[in-house]
Amino acid sequence: MGADAATVARLIDDATARLAAALGLPKREARLEARVLIAHALGVDHAWLIAHDTDPPPPSQQRAIESLIARRAAGEPVAYVLGEREFFGLNFAVTPAVLIPRPDTELLVEAALQRLPGNIAWRVLDLGTGSGAVAIALARARPMADVVAVEASADALAVAQANARRLGADNVQCVAGNWYSTLGVKKFDMIVSNPPYIAAADPHLDIGDLRFEPRQALASGNDGLHDLRVIIDGAPAHLAPGGWLLLEHGWDQGAACRALLETRGFSEARTLRDLAGHERVTLGRHPSEASVIIDPHWLPANP
Ligand code: GLN
Repeated sequence: MGADAATVARLIDDATARLAAALGLPKREARLEARVLIAHALGVDHAWLIAHDTDPPPPSQQRAIESLIARRAAGEPVAYVLGEREFFGLNFAVTPAVLIPRPDTELLVEAALQRLPGNIAWRVLDLGTGSGAVAIALARARPMADVVAVEASADALAVAQANARRLGADNVQCVAGNWYSTLGVKKFDMIVSNPPYIAAADPHLDIGDLRFEPRQALASGNDGLHDLRVIIDGAPAHLAPGGWLLLEHGWDQGAACRALLETRGFSEARTLRDLAGHERVTLGRHPSEASVIIDPHWLPANP
């Protein structure tokens, strides 16, 4: 920022040019990011920035602004620089220990809410909760539900716990563990997960925001399906009869997930598309008591 950055408007222009050049962003996007970061550093909203366009920027905040713009210019995701990201209308604290909540994942929450009654204390399990976004969004929308949020990373679990407290989600219990490993024989009426599902060698892992996110929250074996397989394989033992399993996955993994669900005896297996039209969430239902296969030795012999 030059010595002649004498107004708020000029500060935004300079930051815009810097972010556009450093990140190869279109001007419009760079300006939006510049405004978000400067508003955050000043502790003001967007209306303030517009109203104070021609004012000199508060000198005491120059250093804070410079620090945020420099971090973003070095490629750090906006959500980590701000330390927060909105998801499902709630403001989540995020650190580099957790995956940044994505709009795509709101589809997982919506599909779960469609099946989650408001007047019964359903037991819900969120596997690999990260920031707690999915678990807390569900818990806030369904105060009657008891939500268990499992996370393998201790640093991520601390973020989820802090978010649950801050967002008043008293019905979320955060549990350390690797998928089902610490759950014993506990059964749930619904299991949801946004697990890692990117193939370990996918070059996308080395560009953009993904470079800064925890690799163990993104990558999952050679085909990206390793963790989805573990979750689907373990689900029948942890679902009550008729319980639902809902999984987020990559745009090209819908058919594989449906096949895995069918192999494990799930019914009603189907895949939902995200706003971009990509297959994103596959769900299925654990066989209810009535449809559990009866041991043929129990059946009366044919006359
Ligand atoms: N949808 C994310 C992405 O491709 C990945 C999230 C995940 O692995 N769970 O950026």
